[in-house]
This record gives sequence, structure tokens and C-alpha cells, in this order.
Amino acid sequence: MNEQTQKVAIVTGASRGIGAAVAHRLAKDGFTVVVNYAGNAAAAETVVRDIASAGGKAISAQADVANPADVRRLFDTVQEVYGGVDVLVNNAGIMTLSTVADLTDDALDRLLDINVKGSFHTMREAAKRLRNGGRIVNFSSSVVALLQPTYAPYAATKAAIDAATMVLARELRGRGITVNAVAPGPTATELFLNGKSDELIDRLAKLSPLERLGTPDDIAAAVSFLVGPDGSWINGQVLRPNGGIV
Ligand code: NDP
Repeated sequence: MNEQTQKVAIVTGASRGIGAAVAHRLAKDGFTVVVNYAGNAAAAETVVRDIASAGGKAISAQADVANPADVRRLFDTVQEVYGGVDVLVNNAGIMTLSTVADLTDDALDRLLDINVKGSFHTMREAAKRLRNGGRIVNFSSSVVALLQPTYAPYAATKAAIDAATMVLARELRGRGITVNAVAPGPTATELFLNGKSDELIDRLAKLSPLERLGTPDDIAAAVSFLVGPDGSWINGQVLRPNGGIV
């Protein structure tokens, strides 16, 4: 039996996209996985079923990360069912593109509520409750360094995550808990593909010297490294799985 079999990982936003790939990968690595989702229960159940069919262990758990009470309930449930939490993968996020001049109040509120406040809600519970030796992986983005027009509001939410990651790594001194961020480049999920023409997708795919989009599995491999035994000396860092785009 794998040494990690009893370890429990919460993956937020794991019903689709990168989060679903992370859930599959961590289950394969031997973690018991909590597949969090906001509204898409059917998709989350499919992830749980597929993990079980492959011999892994998972449950689904609804919680809107923007709602602090939901996040407390999520951690309470996991504690009741499994006795504790070892890993938090803070993947849930949304993207809205707009120039600063055209940014609406609603779009800005939603970005801050989910990407920034949502990550703080989960980090706060994890900081209080994670078992010693645990791991936190936050989700940033390579757009923080790419600096393309229309990305300011979204990139700003991710820059906030970079800063919080480095500070939290220091606050958790003495507990053997690492805190890192992954900052993917363009990755083929609904978040990236929705609303873009084939030409634009092709152009963005070619920006990386490896001349393709990232896949959710590429990003899951980076998360697997950070939460696994080989990642134990990486702490307070932002890792950019992006094919060399920046
Ligand atoms: P998707 O849009 O494909 O999936 C988003 C996931 O997040 C879904 O599972 C969704 O749940 C969940 N979610 C959204 N809002 C909430 C919420 N309020 N509470 C809980 N869960 C929520 O996104 P990606 O997989 O592409 O993105 C994952 C992360 O990676 C994000 O943080 C994103 O910013 C980041 N990223 C993505 C890149 C890309 O190119 N794709 C590049 C760089 C970073 P439901 O199904 O229930 O709606």
C-alpha cells in the first residue's frame, strides 16, 4: 500500500478543467480526494465515479468558495468523514477579460470574490486545520508576467495570490507545511477556450516555444510534484508550467 493512501486532499473547482485533472492525478498518487464544485454536481459526480472505477477514493462536496460559511462547512465535512485534511489545492477560479476603462462593477466584484476572497477563505481554514506536514497549492497564472491588454483585473487577482502564497509559507513555520503556487500558461479548458476564435486560439498556442497549449494533465503533473514527496523542499515559490511562454 502506498504511503500516501490515507492522506486527504481537497481540490476546489474539481468538477471540470484543470481541477478535475488534478483530482484524477492525486487519486492515482494515492490521496483520498475531495472533489469540490460550485454548481455542476453532475460533472463532480462523474469525476468521483471515474476515480472510483480506476481504483481510487473520492467524494464530491459542494461549496461556493466565495462564501466563507460554505468553506467552513466543506472543511467540517471533510474533518467528520476523514478525520483531517493534508492537502489543499486552491484551483477554483474564474476569468473575465476587460480593459480597465470598460470594467464593470459586477465583473470586478465577481473576480475579487472568487479568485481572491475565495482563496483566502480556503487558505484560512487550511492554515488552522491542516495536519502537520501538509501542502497548500494555490492557483496563480502566467498572465501576471505576460502583461497583455484586457488581463489587468484577472492578473491582479492572481498577483494577490502570489503574494499571499509567499507570506503564508512563512506564517506556517514550524508545522512542516509547504505553500506554493502554480501559474499555468494558456491551458485547454473552458475557461481559456470560451469566446475565442480558432485563429486566436492557434495564435496563442504558438506563443510558447513548444508551440502548443497546455493540457490539464500538464498542470496536474506540476501539482502532483508539489504535493508529493519529491516536492518537499519547495516552499513559498511560484512555479510556472507554461511551456516557456514567459
Ligand atoms: P474551468 O472554468 O475549466 O473550471 C473552473 C472550475 O472552478 C469548475 O470546476 C467550477 O465549478 C469551479 N468554480 C468556479 N467558481 C467556483 C466557486 N465560486 N466555488 C467553487 N468552485 C468554483 O477553469 P480552469 O480549469 O481553466 O481553471 C482552473 C484554475 O486555473 C483557475 O484558478 C484559473 O484561473 C487557473 N488558470 C487557468 C488557465 C487556463 O488557461 N485555463 C491559465 C492560468 C491559470 P462548477 O463546474 O461547479 O462551475
